Amino acid sequence: MSEQEIYYEMLWDCAQCNTKGLLGDSHRHCPTCGAAQDPTKRYFPKEGEEVEAKNHQFVGADWSCAYCSSPNSRAAAHCTNCGAGQDGTKPVALVVDTDAAPPEPVAAPAAKPPQRNLGWLRWAIAALALVVIGMVFLFTSTKDTTATVAQRSWAREIQIEQMGRVSDSAWCDSVPGDAYGISRSREQRSTRQVPDGQDCHTERVDKGDGTFVKRQECTTRYRDVPVYDDRCSYSVNRWRTVRSVKAGTQDSLVPMWPGVGNLNANFLGGSVGALGSERQGPRSERYELVLTNGKKTWTCNVPESVWSKYQDGATTDLKVRLTGGADCASLK
Ligand SMILES: [Zn+2]
Ligand SMILES: [Zn+2]
Repeated sequence: MSEQEIYYEMLWDCAQCNTKGLLGDSHRHCPTCGAAQDPTKRYFPKEGEEVEAKNHQFVGADWSCAYCSSPNSRAAAHCTNCGAGQDGTKPVALVVDTDAAPPEPVAAPAAKPPQRNLGWLRWAIAALALVVIGMVFLFTSTKDTTATVAQRSWAREIQIEQMGRVSDSAWCDSVPGDAYGISRSREQRSTRQVPDGQDCHTERVDKGDGTFVKRQECTTRYRDVPVYDDRCSYSVNRWRTVRSVKAGTQDSLVPMWPGVGNLNANFLGGSVGALGSERQGPRSERYELVLTNGKKTWTCNVPESVWSKYQDGATTDLKVRLTGGADCASLK
């Protein structure tokens, strides 16, 4: 112990004669009735009523006599009350300062485990399972019907893309390599935590020998500060869909792809990829059969290979779900 610590007296109440506020270090026995101090009855004094234990030498927590329970100094080889030896004894239990202002909670306490009766949840799960089973049954069970092809149609589309100037912005460390016309500005990108003073409170620590010391406990407070970075506004040339060409049943009974005509790069004489040049983009196609059994009508989107097998007026078996929808996959 290099630093000079200030020791204060713990207090205790005499259980024999009911004298209160006896000093833990100075009164090893009750000055009124002579009863030995009970170390389990020690407590911290009220704020502002602390009594300093002057010239106190801390030699360790007291040991509790195995025969009479009296507290004895670590330096004493024998019990001052009954003379029993120190060997095999335990140090007295330390008192926790419950009066001290509780420190700021460091972390939110863990969420309380739900203690509610979960019986209703079991019922809800059982009901949900029944509903799911019912839905699966409704959607998977089918019955056969005979249907006639009432209408067939197809549609095909080709997207036409054009190389165009697109404006965008990104953090300057992730700007595309082909960006141009770049302008920079400072913007907040994130936040950072910096120390912002301390929250301190005094804690009282039982030394176990009838005295306690005060200790300053501090936690660092933090504050968010914005972190700025370079934001880049730029232009890039990118393919974008600008129009599409379509063909459908109105053009031909047999499906065919629409003509794309002259794309810009061709008749302008520029190169594909130059600003304003065009190219063919993604294609899509759709084949539809309308079927009826006289009472109900179903529309089925099917692959072209299936669609081409069903001519107008053809009769076919069709599986219909209990919910009313047709199982279009049953068309082969
Ligand atoms: Zn007493
Ligand atoms: Zn004893």
